[in-house]
Amino acid sequence: MPALSEVIAALDALWPPERAEQWDAVGTVCGDPGAPVTRVLFAVDPVQEVVEEAVQLGAGLLVTHHPLYLRGTTTVAASTFKGRAVHTLIKNDIALHVAHTNADRADPGVSDALAGALDLRVTGPLVPDPDDPAGRRGLGRVCELDPPMDLAAFAEHAAKRLPATAQGVRVAGDPARTIRTVAVCGGSGDSLFDAVRAAGVDAYVTADLRHHPASEAQQHSPLALVDAAHWATEWPWAEQAAAQLDEISDRHGWGLRTHVSKIVTDPWTAHAASSTHNH
Ligand SMILES: [Zn+2]
Repeated sequence: MPALSEVIAALDALWPPERAEQWDAVGTVCGDPGAPVTRVLFAVDPVQEVVEEAVQLGAGLLVTHHPLYLRGTTTVAASTFKGRAVHTLIKNDIALHVAHTNADRADPGVSDALAGALDLRVTGPLVPDPDDPAGRRGLGRVCELDPPMDLAAFAEHAAKRLPATAQGVRVAGDPARTIRTVAVCGGSGDSLFDAVRAAGVDAYVTADLRHHPASEAQQHSPLALVDAAHWATEWPWAEQAAAQLDEISDRHGWGLRTHVSKIVTDPWTAHAASSTHNH
């Protein structure tokens, strides 16, 4: 059975922390490097429900995509919700490790997992990392959809293949438009519209699209937009990451048990469709 430090070293090799954005807060939040690890839980959000799930599982390590603390703090008191998570983790000998923008840019990364969930064939990164000679790392992915589908069918496909959320999938564009090429970016992707346009794809799958960037993208070109819940676009990474650690565990004979949280931590809990006769 490996020590936490050995498992973390393996995770750092998958998602080197130095490749995270400057503003990000990745790495180990709490945990004893010498503690033995037998079970690992992967999830998107380090929220209390997920921490409780790690306790129930008897996990020694919780790996999440989103940081618990993105900015500095002066308290981990259990009277704060983040401090409560820290207390629950430490009392139950559970380490917390975060791989955020370093997992976004990795090969394979968060957007590879999203592309895989949607049966898309990745042809390259949307914004390549200049320091990757293989040209595989970077933000977002450019993909092919084979066979092509019209936008309405592709949106149905995405809604079926991504984990269920209250939001479901929102679409912008002509539903009859044929989709052959797709850019994907797990999480909030509305800063990448210039790269999406430069890639010349038929559709862009991401999350958290806001009115103005989406409206301007539509005015600019007939790009179709497929907007899913933030959590749903990043959840496939948790499955991908668990499979990567399984493979490492097999190679080292560690016998780790990995789990992927199925708790929906998207904050939106209901969706009411507008009625058409309200105005
Ligand atoms: Zn995210």
